[in-house]
Amino acid sequence: MGLNMFIDFHTHHDRKSTDLINLQTLHVTPELQSESLPNTCSLGLHPWFVQLETWESAWANLVVLAKSTKVIAIGECGLDRNIDLPMEVQIAVFQRHIELAETLQKPLVIHCVKAFSELIALKKNTKSSIPWIIHGFHKKIEVFQQLLNHDFYFSLGTAILSDRSPVIQAIATVPNGKFLLETDDRIDVTIEQIYNRAATLRQVPLDTLKSQLVETYHQLTSLS
Ligand SMILES: [Zn+2]
Repeated sequence: MGLNMFIDFHTHHDRKSTDLINLQTLHVTPELQSESLPNTCSLGLHPWFVQLETWESAWANLVVLAKSTKVIAIGECGLDRNIDLPMEVQIAVFQRHIELAETLQKPLVIHCVKAFSELIALKKNTKSSIPWIIHGFHKKIEVFQQLLNHDFYFSLGTAILSDRSPVIQAIATVPNGKFLLETDDRIDVTIEQIYNRAATLRQVPLDTLKSQLVETYHQLTSLS
């Protein structure tokens, strides 16, 4: 893999370019087929779409599909305080993802809204050895520091484009090796824009940032 690639570590869109690693995330349904998986992807049950009646059959399909070498990471999955699904169900579904990621030695891509203390407790209690990567992180520096202390990784996205976002401090100071970049569901933003902004805020040349993130990507995704 060339050191001069861009990596979009979390996107809901299928983009192709010779200088791009596009880690497309898919919510698994019972019907999803292995033939329809993108070449580089991340699979999970997103808490927004977990339904009490159907999630077990979607889960059974995920367990099969996740073995594919196309599947680089498990998720997005996680905890969201803003939705109706009871937190104990969310935790039960998330724990399955943790176990699966551990078995397959693939990193976890995490969606977390207002549930960081539960997330930290789960990481401690499960003694998980794989990387836990919080995607779309945009909270203030104190939360960021606490997560960093518990050895979380970060995938940072469009929030860093805003001058007013508290995450500006995080992107400027996050240690090399602890983060990647993403566009998530945005189609009006390119990963190049996110990289350029991150390079400016971190005061490193774009090419340096690109090669650093290729190394980070390698480290987080070649576990076994
Ligand atoms: Zn997403």
